[in-house]
Amino acid sequence: MKLLLHACCGPCSLEPTRILRAAGHDLTLYYANSNIAPAEEYAHRLGTLRTWAGGEGLPVVEGPYDPAAWEATAGRVGEAALAAADGDVLRVATHPALREARCRACYRLRFEEAARVASERRFDAVGTTLSVSPYQFTEVIREELERAAAAAGVRALFEDYRPFYDEATRRSRATGMYRQNFCGCRFSEAEAAAERAERK
Ligand code: SF4
Repeated sequence: MKLLLHACCGPCSLEPTRILRAAGHDLTLYYANSNIAPAEEYAHRLGTLRTWAGGEGLPVVEGPYDPAAWEATAGRVGEAALAAADGDVLRVATHPALREARCRACYRLRFEEAARVASERRFDAVGTTLSVSPYQFTEVIREELERAAAAAGVRALFEDYRPFYDEATRRSRATGMYRQNFCGCRFSEAEAAAERAERK
């Protein structure tokens, strides 16, 4: 199957691409991640992905980087949740219910973009590497990927790659690949920092 695989970063791409290639799929990676801030971080993750994918013979297509679009959707939802938590970043970090709507809006923006391109370029299906992370909302990823694919008229190829997260961590460490310590958006960076400070 000719598959456009939404890729969030290098480490998260390692195992899904191995599994999908072993299954015989023809992969193109699509880096559509307007959630990532600041722009330097976005570029660093893209560079890491390109370097690794180049060695693997995997094509990488960069989508539009539109932080304003992200702020107008997921960013607004995130601000509302933070206000509901009285500005307590640690509370948001430790209560998934306060993050889920923000992450859903974030997935939606990125998957709609990926599905649109998959349809325009006549891919058979669209997938995502996001579901390798146990820190994401796996069922929400599935729902949003299927929703975006149906709207664009392409097939969704969702797989739960979480059982391979440890192997992805091992492989990325072994190769010295850049591994970020927050999911991507400005909220997640502040939440990760708050959790680290709490653990000290
Ligand atoms: S935590 Fe990750 S998935 Fe959730 S809104 Fe931020 S960047 Fe998007």
